[in-house]
Amino acid sequence: MRIPAAEASPAWQRQLSGAVRNPATLLKRLGLEPTHLPGANTGHVLFEVRVPEAYLSRIAPNTPNDPLLRQVLPLGEEALTPSGFVNDPLEEADHRPVKGLIHKYAGRVLLIASPTCAINCRYCFRRHFPYADNAPSRAQWQEALDYLRQDPSIHEAILSGGDPLAASDRQLAWLTGEIEAIPHIKRLRIHTRLPVVIPDRIDDALLAWLSTTRLQKVMVLHINHANEIDQTVVDACARLKKAGVTLLNQSVLLRGVNDNVAMLATLSERLFEAGVLPYYLHVLDPVQGAAHFDVPDIEARALVSELRNHLPGFLMPRLVREIPGEGSKTPL
Ligand SMILES: *Cc1c(COP(=O)(O)O)cnc(C)c1O
Ligand code: SF4
Repeated sequence: MRIPAAEASPAWQRQLSGAVRNPATLLKRLGLEPTHLPGANTGHVLFEVRVPEAYLSRIAPNTPNDPLLRQVLPLGEEALTPSGFVNDPLEEADHRPVKGLIHKYAGRVLLIASPTCAINCRYCFRRHFPYADNAPSRAQWQEALDYLRQDPSIHEAILSGGDPLAASDRQLAWLTGEIEAIPHIKRLRIHTRLPVVIPDRIDDALLAWLSTTRLQKVMVLHINHANEIDQTVVDACARLKKAGVTLLNQSVLLRGVNDNVAMLATLSERLFEAGVLPYYLHVLDPVQGAAHFDVPDIEARALVSELRNHLPGFLMPRLVREIPGEGSKTPL
């Protein structure tokens, strides 16, 4: 049967459902030895592989230590259980007054707008997150929206996930409309990796609802290495800026990905060329399965202090940790 044009899924959704989802394919596509397979399968069982083509195309073939590959290829080490690495390191389960909503910090509330991500990052602090229990239906959204309506101290709604941009534009346009009808909400912030992972996500349908809202718009991207920023990402950022979006970036300091000064400096420079300002550099949240990415605090501080000798102040990300119970991210 022919699908009428109006109902055909957008290009980004086809890329999302066509993502590489098993370790053997990932290794084969990148010309990597099958010796990596047993370890990759071990990690895959714990947190499944997901890599869209647009991201895969930026990984160097036949390079086991490629900094982008390290973020997506599961390893046997993920099965290790060192002490201090836990399932819910941020204790977010304690901060959900209603389903799909996390209110930890004054003035801003985080909404779980989509349970899934376009890519599965091995170091993710939500790798054990009970997404299925926290993706609200339309009716349950009313409860979250009531929470926003009833608290005039809330000025900012943060769409998070998962990845909020994995939701359809129809859903996002509806949600944004509901949020902007609440007079005390001034800002809409979107925490997303999709413009980096599938730059085609920034299409006309997205720009239509994003550019017409009265809310001030901030998008916090998630990029860890300069190689993630190719021309397609630069173009996606340009479309967002044209729609009036302030672009920021958060990175995670990761062993074997960006744990040296030259790489962090290049990342900041490349971000700014794309019109994005560095915001946070997070130390790893101690989530079980990700201990091999950990960079000790003493080394993290030394790196950032040296980084300051290489960059203008406005290109310096803030080194932070998230400590459960604190009223904000904690500077290191
Ligand atoms: C990180 C975070 C925010 C945003 O914090 P900022 O310092 O404003 O970027 C808001 N809510 C939650 C639950 C968070 O984890
Ligand atoms: S995009 Fe963000 S939330 Fe999704 S897997 Fe990666 S780090 Fe986790």
